Amino acid sequence: MRNFTEEQQMFRDAYRKFLESEVQPHMPRFREQGIVDRDIFRKAGDQGFLMIWPEEKYGGMGDRDFRYEQIIMEETCRAGCGEWFNTLHSRLVGPYFENFGNEEQKQRFLPGCVKGETILAVAMTEPDAGSDLSGMRSTARDMGDHFLLNGSKTYISNGINADVVIVAAKTDPENNPYALALLIVERGMEGFERGRNLDKMGMHAQDTAELFFNDVKVPKENVLGEPGKGFFYLMEGLAEERLISGAGAIANARMAFDMTRQFVMERKVFGKPLSKMQNTEFKMAEMDTEIEIMQVYVDHAVALHNEGKLTANMGAKIKLQATEIEWRMLDLGVQLHGGAGYMMEYPISYMFTSSRINRILAGSSEIMKYIIGRDVFSDKYSSMFD
Ligand SMILES: Cc1cc2nc3c(=O)[nH]c(=O)nc-3n(C[C@H](O)[C@H](O)[C@H](O)COP(=O)(O)OP(=O)(O)OC[C@H]3O[C@@H](n4cnc5c(N)ncnc54)[C@H](O)[C@@H]3O)c2cc1C
Repeated sequence: MRNFTEEQQMFRDAYRKFLESEVQPHMPRFREQGIVDRDIFRKAGDQGFLMIWPEEKYGGMGDRDFRYEQIIMEETCRAGCGEWFNTLHSRLVGPYFENFGNEEQKQRFLPGCVKGETILAVAMTEPDAGSDLSGMRSTARDMGDHFLLNGSKTYISNGINADVVIVAAKTDPENNPYALALLIVERGMEGFERGRNLDKMGMHAQDTAELFFNDVKVPKENVLGEPGKGFFYLMEGLAEERLISGAGAIANARMAFDMTRQFVMERKVFGKPLSKMQNTEFKMAEMDTEIEIMQVYVDHAVALHNEGKLTANMGAKIKLQATEIEWRMLDLGVQLHGGAGYMMEYPISYMFTSSRINRILAGSSEIMKYIIGRDVFSDKYSSMFD
């Protein structure tokens, strides 16, 4: 039995209904057009499904219980609407204003974000800088009353729809590769241009774009926190970001498990249901075990996060393991569907290609192992026998 309050269950039911009526029916069209309608953000905002955490004075519910975010992730995956990147807006980018913004910035931006009128994105990655952000080439030169932003970004989620993009750029490129500013770049600023909506293997409804900045004058009022400290600000949010990825990945894995279970019970091979073959039973038993155990760990981490005790190490373990389990489950799901698993009319097929990014995005599996491995050989390591 999972630990959600009655209120949270009601929230889950309401959000599920919202997805079923307002988002799910439109997904085929969104995939065809390569982008979700902006309207979806506004409708979700109207019903209180976007940013829940901001204080009431900024339009939110002021409820910081992370289980709400978990419910949103789980239900969005269940409905097959993961390409509508509402979590990026609500939980990965929005908190930059809360954590590093000043009062004036919170008042200026948060209400529009809560209502879904202002769509958010974050731009760190560049053609030559992904896992290693110190390779970034974008610069933010201090010109007295403003910063002059130059550079380009790529693979930016919500890149076409976004009204406000938090852009990371170097403030002292010659001397310090880790001195970054986080700049609030707004739609319509001169010199800010969008490139292609990129053609991807999956997640076709998600607008993933290139962004260009040519001598963009970003006023000092649009700098988050202290210029130069952006790298540390980005790092601060990573444990939570990885918990979010893990919560989504394990929900996806369970969804893929359920649809595969249904399929193998109905499909007959050699005169009996595919589910009666020992190979099917064993493989599905392995996945059921892995997914369930991982879910318990994710729920445990959510509870710890609510107490402010989630560590970077734990976030990395969750992201690593949940996305690897998701991947194994999707591969098995396609295999057990046979040829049908390769056909787009079966959801397992599209889930397989769309989820491939999860072991790369938000820190690749290799980077997660690097983080965990570093701790294993440091004095942070503690054995249960210590
Ligand atoms: C659909 C999509 C959406 C995205 N959305 C955003 C977004 O909204 N904002 C944003 O800023 N970025 C976004 N990204 C970028 C994403 O975060 C990066 O692609 C990711 O961090 C990997 O960086 P990279 O592509 O430069 O690959 P690289 O860093 O070049 O990695 C290539 C390979 O090298 C491995 N590797 C790298 N370093 C090490 C190491 N130290 N040890 C061992 N192996 C290593 C990696 O694991 C990987 O296998 C998105 C990407 C995609 C595809």
